Amino acid sequence: MNKFYLGILYIVPTPIGNLSDITHRALKTLKDVQIIAVENIKHTSILLKHFNIKNRLFLMNKDNETKQSDNLIKELKKGKNIALVSNAGTPIINDPGNFLIKKCHFFNIKVIPLPGACAAITALSASGIMNNRFCYEGFLPSKKKLRCNLLKSLKEETRTIIFYESKYRIIESIQDIIEQIDKNRYIVIAREITKKWECIHGEKAKLMLEWLKEDRCRYKGEMVIIIDGFKNLKKDHLSQKILETFTTLRNFISLKTSVLVTSKIHNINKNNLYQYAIKNKHDK
Ligand code: SAM
Repeated sequence: MNKFYLGILYIVPTPIGNLSDITHRALKTLKDVQIIAVENIKHTSILLKHFNIKNRLFLMNKDNETKQSDNLIKELKKGKNIALVSNAGTPIINDPGNFLIKKCHFFNIKVIPLPGACAAITALSASGIMNNRFCYEGFLPSKKKLRCNLLKSLKEETRTIIFYESKYRIIESIQDIIEQIDKNRYIVIAREITKKWECIHGEKAKLMLEWLKEDRCRYKGEMVIIIDGFKNLKKDHLSQKILETFTTLRNFISLKTSVLVTSKIHNINKNNLYQYAIKNKHDK
């Protein structure tokens, strides 16, 4: 079908607490489109009422995303413009809608993203933690074993790490960060951003746990956890990743070649690794 006759899907961020954070362009788009796809009708109706916007709402949440995406694609194919919003912040970022976007690309339907509020980026910007290299991990798993495994795998992640967390699990999660990452790792909790009780607090993990436990109000509401990346302070430190590469290679090839290839892959000094290998009897 000719792209000219198709509608456009607009991705429209909404405020994460303070209604003044909506943009002029978001308001205009919400007025101009023929349909607004929403995660929760009641939630978005409050926002629209506040800005005096009347429009057709169409429910699409994580339970009906597949089916409703097909229905929305039908409307887009008829030439209707649609705005996708979630309950708060940027749709798609731990919110439904990705399935619809993939389908739009498949059918050559134009997707236009509007910039706007996102809790992860807003928290990062105020964290004071290095922010030119970061990874976003969404919600920490609610099951302890999965959460601990994930945190363990991120122990030597050098980029800043961003998590979303619920007030119900924050204490357990900080406890797990202490156990799986490091009690002295610097972390920031950004809570209730843009709202009345906004609080951005940074501490070493162990002190953060004590600080939280001092006052229940310190972990009420919505929050983002930012964890400082791993700092390799020892020049000859051999990370878990380096050792994994080395031991995998050593299963198949000679000690000399394993050391050489590992040091090339990870850009490290081969003598340190060689000494480690001898000390740990990898030459046998
Ligand atoms: N799409 C949203 C965004 O762009 O940030 C995120 C949706 S996710 C379902 C909701 C989570 O975002 C909350 O549980 C919390 O971790 C975080 N969050 C949302 N609003 C927040 C706020 N005002 N302050 C701190 N964290 C917030």
